[in-house]
Amino acid sequence: MKRLLKGGHLVDPLQGIDGVRDVLLDGDRVVEIGIDLPVAADVEVAEVPAGCVVCPGFVDMHVHLREPGQEHKETIATGTAAAAVGGFTAVACMPNTQPVNDSAAVTRAILERASLVGSVRVYPIGAVSKGMKGETLSEIADLREAGCVAISDDGKPVLTALLMRRALEYAGMFNLPVIDHCEEPTLKGEGVAHEGYIASMLGLRGIPATAESIMVERDIALAEMTGSAVHIAHLSTRQALRGVWAAKARGIAVTCEVTPHHFSLTDQRLTAPIGYDTNLKMNPPLREQADVDAMIQGLRAGTVDVIATDHAPHQQDEKHVEFDRAPFGIIGLETAVPLTIDRLVHGGVITLRRMVQLLSVNPSRILNLPGGTLRAGRPADLTIIAPSVSTTVDLSKSKSLSRNSPFDGWSLRGSVAATIVGGRTVYVNHEVPGAAVFGPAAVRA
Ligand SMILES: [Zn+2]
Repeated sequence: MKRLLKGGHLVDPLQGIDGVRDVLLDGDRVVEIGIDLPVAADVEVAEVPAGCVVCPGFVDMHVHLREPGQEHKETIATGTAAAAVGGFTAVACMPNTQPVNDSAAVTRAILERASLVGSVRVYPIGAVSKGMKGETLSEIADLREAGCVAISDDGKPVLTALLMRRALEYAGMFNLPVIDHCEEPTLKGEGVAHEGYIASMLGLRGIPATAESIMVERDIALAEMTGSAVHIAHLSTRQALRGVWAAKARGIAVTCEVTPHHFSLTDQRLTAPIGYDTNLKMNPPLREQADVDAMIQGLRAGTVDVIATDHAPHQQDEKHVEFDRAPFGIIGLETAVPLTIDRLVHGGVITLRRMVQLLSVNPSRILNLPGGTLRAGRPADLTIIAPSVSTTVDLSKSKSLSRNSPFDGWSLRGSVAATIVGGRTVYVNHEVPGAAVFGPAAVRA
């Protein structure tokens, strides 16, 4: 079936387009982009509502889907349904499942499940080390063969410099990026919050900024030595960002991502309105204002490549404990795009074009995915946003199985209007006037 999205504002940086274009889809592919495309008899026409922006599908390259093993927190069905609502047409899922995704069998099981129940595309990330124990490398060639798009021990850093060196050497041979959760474990110690004034005041054990930057510098040195690509997950400190900036200037293959919470919140939130809110406990922790300012500057200037959520579902009873004992992490799939539009686009930090680079072009390029553009012949994966329509975050309506978010009740200017994956509409936001033209949605959970 052919479908023509007519008269929308298309932002597709790889084609140099930022203006009104028609987008013609045929089945699961884009077939033509143009101004005032003719309407053939067999084409279904959807007039894109005024104010909506059509973008190549957004990709969240840092998600924890929890399946297999922790299906009480999230499943592939619920996590990808949340992704669809959040405007993501694809997610890359981290390997810290139970069992760990360190073998082709686990990778294949995830992909099989995703093909049955997934609302959006799922790209598994394999473990760097067997069992994520930081001892021996997993079978990287097998993981790639089975469908992994990167390797990472996320949740933990790649423990030793030697293991990181080997990982970069092997993964580099297969053109797979190594994604590292940068945290020097002895400096992190038993820390639960950013080391600084707020943690001292609240009597919480601190995680110093240096725990992050020291590992980022190690990884940069090893990327330079091996010539392989390293991607820094959830970068949060100005010191680490400075390291990435300097490495990029020297031509080293390093990229990095920042989460919406690290550009929207500081550790100051830990004091009010609810003190010790465990929905503000994540790793890396919320940092101080100078770090948030640096993240924003990095997003603006291009030192930061990607916005990724680090969507980390935990059940309410797991979070309803003392701050010290609560697990790290918050969900983020459904709030990332409204936060990005509200804070960064309306905040005057980035243009829509840069937003599409951060959410689509760059994650697709880093993971070697076919998305990132709506060029003719590419998959019909589209995210349609309504930048001027406000969203009020209501966790009770979340598609995720978990509710651990600090953004409940927030009113944000910016909404997802519809999400289309492989030509199939998987989400329509009926709060956006006129968005029904993209429906009906076929979310699978
Ligand atoms: Zn992590």
